[in-house]
Amino acid sequence: MKTEDHSDVIVYFDNQYVPLHDAKVSILTHALHYGTGVFDGIRGYWDERQEQLFLLRPMEHFRRWKANSGILRIGIAPDASELCGIAVELIRRNRFHSHVYVRPLAYKSAERIGVNPDDRDAFSVIVVPFGDYLDSKHGLHAGVVSWRRIEDNAIPGRAKICGSYVNSALAGDEARRNGFDEAIFLTEAGHVAEGATCNIFLVRAGKLVTPPGSENILEGITRNCVMELARNELHLEVVERPVDRSELYLADEIFFTGTAVEVAPVTQVDHRAVGSGAIGPVAAELRFLYLEATRSHLANYRHWLLPAYEPAHVESAEPEPVLAGAGDGDLWGV
Ligand code: PMP
Repeated sequence: MKTEDHSDVIVYFDNQYVPLHDAKVSILTHALHYGTGVFDGIRGYWDERQEQLFLLRPMEHFRRWKANSGILRIGIAPDASELCGIAVELIRRNRFHSHVYVRPLAYKSAERIGVNPDDRDAFSVIVVPFGDYLDSKHGLHAGVVSWRRIEDNAIPGRAKICGSYVNSALAGDEARRNGFDEAIFLTEAGHVAEGATCNIFLVRAGKLVTPPGSENILEGITRNCVMELARNELHLEVVERPVDRSELYLADEIFFTGTAVEVAPVTQVDHRAVGSGAIGPVAAELRFLYLEATRSHLANYRHWLLPAYEPAHVESAEPEPVLAGAGDGDLWGV
């Protein structure tokens, strides 16, 4: 995320819309000491031509966030539909006309020493302007790091638990200090898991291969989008199976997927060229399709998107009534 000053941005904190500089927690907050929070990340894409900001699969992200919070027994009262309403309201109140990133965060909020969590929970939703996370247009250089991906029976990696991101921070830091753009994690069993903040795909013998959920990966929503695009648009077979390290060196193509990295081709892995060393055709096409779909240019994938503004681009100061009480159903089909 960029380091600009966001202190005047309106955020949702303590069930209210307040400026970020007023959204403060105590230094004794449980989650700050013990990592007992769960977050998610959602992109919103501004389309200049349509003067519209499209949230990408917000229902799916908010459902995942609520479900993952349940792993830590953190309760979030609003349903996914109401949470979409909060995100839309934040975009409108801040009058964002750029790409944005939505960061919901639920956490154990007790203010005391002691690791045992109690039932004081809190959550907030923050939306900030957001551009490119990694410049992947020309292909990334990735490296396997010495840190191993956290095991499900230690801290569930699929849960997006705040404390588990120490694992990603160590991996990302090692990779960058060694001259790579992004890390590749192996599991304790030595299989390829994912990047520090993204999932990984390989193209081998014309098939798209990616590690399954049981390899300690985060079950990415971008991963899911890309699998759908590959099957529907490129008619590729997509295989979820354990991947050996040496397959990285034999793959025709490799790319990462994630909300922040989008679809990011990898042209070098551990100082070896991937395939020809140039961005491969599958990664290039999937990247193109993903960027088009997320900006509402592909009719077949509009159900992934929730427009934040009225079609006529009327800005309202009040919460959007159509969202209220819409339930947790298939309003946006995600
Ligand atoms: N793995 C990790 C460790 C991540 O942090 C992310 C980003 N959320 C992903 C994979 C990709 O998930 P998604 O496509 O849902 O953003």
